[in-house]
Amino acid sequence: MKRSRTRSQTQVLKQLQTLKEPTSAQDLHIHLRQKKVSMGLATVYRALESLKLEGAIQVRTLSSGESLYSLAAAEDTHHLTCVRCGNSTIMDECPVHGLESHLTESHHFQIFYHTLEFFGLCQTCQLAEDDSLKDSRNDSRDDSRTAAG
Ligand SMILES: [Zn+2]
Ligand SMILES: [Zn+2]
Repeated sequence: MKRSRTRSQTQVLKQLQTLKEPTSAQDLHIHLRQKKVSMGLATVYRALESLKLEGAIQVRTLSSGESLYSLAAAEDTHHLTCVRCGNSTIMDECPVHGLESHLTESHHFQIFYHTLEFFGLCQTCQLAEDDSLKDSRNDSRDDSRTAAG
């Protein structure tokens, strides 16, 4: 089932294909302008909205409230996001991939894509937290320095 796309939709889709990474509408707008494609930000948003409804692109909303757009099902990847430093690690496996076909059958629901994200502390931040605990313990019995002087 192929629907005809407007020129701006095609441009936006092409740009997302080129960028290969989740991009905000504002950044897309900047990239398009650099390519001398004249398109207002409102048009970019409209194109993104239509492409989203069509299932061609997917949206990921960050904790900051910013929405990042990428090609749907281009890759089935998921993120482990650290709440402390904000770093995201990509998981290369998808734990719910098989669930899609099951849901399609049992709910008669046409699935375009899914999102799944895990939040917690990355290893670096876990170690940093351990260190700060140790430091506070050392502070309380730090009388060795005076004896050594
Ligand atoms: Zn971290
Ligand atoms: Zn997945």
